[in-house]
Amino acid sequence: MHRRTKIVATIGPASEDAETLRALIRAGMDVARLGLAHGTIEEALERLHRIRRVAAEEGRRVGVLVDLPGPKVRSGSFGETGVDVPTGATVELRVGDTSSDGSVIEVDYAFLMRDIQVGDRLTIGDGGAILEVSDKSDDKMLATVVHGSLLRGRPGVHVPSDRLSISTPTPEDFEAIDAFVEAGVDMIAVSFVRSAHDIRRVGTEPHPRGPLVIAKIETRAAVENLPGIIEAAGAIMVARGDLGNECSLEDLPHLQKQIIRDCIAGGRPVITATQMLESMITAPAPTRAEAGDVANAVFDGSSAVMLSGETAVGDDPVNVVRTMSRIARRADEEMDYEAWARRLAEIRMTDSTIDAASVTDAMTMATWRATYELGIDHILCISGSGFTVRSMARFRPNATIIGFSTNEATVQQLTLSWGTTPMLMKKGGSNEEMVAEALRLARDAGHVGSGDRVAVLAGSDSRSRSTNVLRIEQVP
Ligand code: PEP
Repeated sequence: MHRRTKIVATIGPASEDAETLRALIRAGMDVARLGLAHGTIEEALERLHRIRRVAAEEGRRVGVLVDLPGPKVRSGSFGETGVDVPTGATVELRVGDTSSDGSVIEVDYAFLMRDIQVGDRLTIGDGGAILEVSDKSDDKMLATVVHGSLLRGRPGVHVPSDRLSISTPTPEDFEAIDAFVEAGVDMIAVSFVRSAHDIRRVGTEPHPRGPLVIAKIETRAAVENLPGIIEAAGAIMVARGDLGNECSLEDLPHLQKQIIRDCIAGGRPVITATQMLESMITAPAPTRAEAGDVANAVFDGSSAVMLSGETAVGDDPVNVVRTMSRIARRADEEMDYEAWARRLAEIRMTDSTIDAASVTDAMTMATWRATYELGIDHILCISGSGFTVRSMARFRPNATIIGFSTNEATVQQLTLSWGTTPMLMKKGGSNEEMVAEALRLARDAGHVGSGDRVAVLAGSDSRSRSTNVLRIEQVP
């Protein structure tokens, strides 16, 4: 069985050269993530073009996701070798972005003195040092190190989101949005989202004309406003790094499950992110707990699992993707698809009975049932915006999904969708013509064999607003 859960890999200094990108694609990277927290927009755009070129040379569809930093606060640099900030020490906090050491930590947040109060806790690095503010004057604060850590480079400083007075997207994010929309990026992830309004502020054209907008769930407010955010966003990321700073750690696995469940019910792809194979930044194999984390994220229903530092700055990014691919594929094999789809069938995507979405909802459910009862191994799904393919994927069918569209942007955005092989089809036309074209393309690409029985899901013609025809066909 092919792997069904997708892999998002972050591209950084350890993986940005053409040969490593090629090896990452061969190892199973489905979507490349570009972070903007380090480096310039121009450098990230160069990476985007290089990924496009190498993917085309490899004949593979690879989505590109740009991750906006949002109001991400960082410390002044602790240097490459790092500084030990021990438990129990008292440190001074100041506004700045140059250097930090064991006694003075600079924080590049202009409103630090205004927004942070005595008693607040700041976390530096993903779960690294925890500081509690004990005293405050006009230009500096004193903090006690509640939990010490070795800090390197410019780690993120987690300011509790209800204290942050700058909204997301930030002015710098908007600059990046303009540049990346112009360059035709496939997906944009928005950091520190607190409400659906933050997603609407992104202001790009609805996908597929604009990029798929991914809401990163990493604040307490986002968890509280989840239904509206899911409705407004094209996809969701469970950003466990910052979310783990905002909620108690024992709540985190349950929030992960709840967010994933709600995304699937809403037909939105969902990425589980952060520290999945963290030890592989330096080690050649993951810990047993990490292997379990990846497999459990698959069982939870993640559409995709994500690598961050492991591929951006790690010792062997290709080995990490290969390892994640093996663990995810094995978990995919163990997934109880039938129980999953039966549970899903209870949760209707829409409660309306008249709009196009509810027709698609009913048709995808009928397709799941038909393929299950008839033992059909392939679903060819012809879609304009990708909505039908995403609706189909939420049933996690045993059958493979081949997602066709005449729209190049849709095809690229489908790289994130669970279990989906995206394919571009050139012709629109009548249902008869589109079905014949999809059967031919899937056969010629080797995804289905001549004589196979397949399900084909499409609109009655290229103008139909909803998916309203299911055909059981034999591949010519
Ligand atoms: C996270 O916080 O888990 C995350 C994915 O965001 P970032 O890597 O931008 O901190």
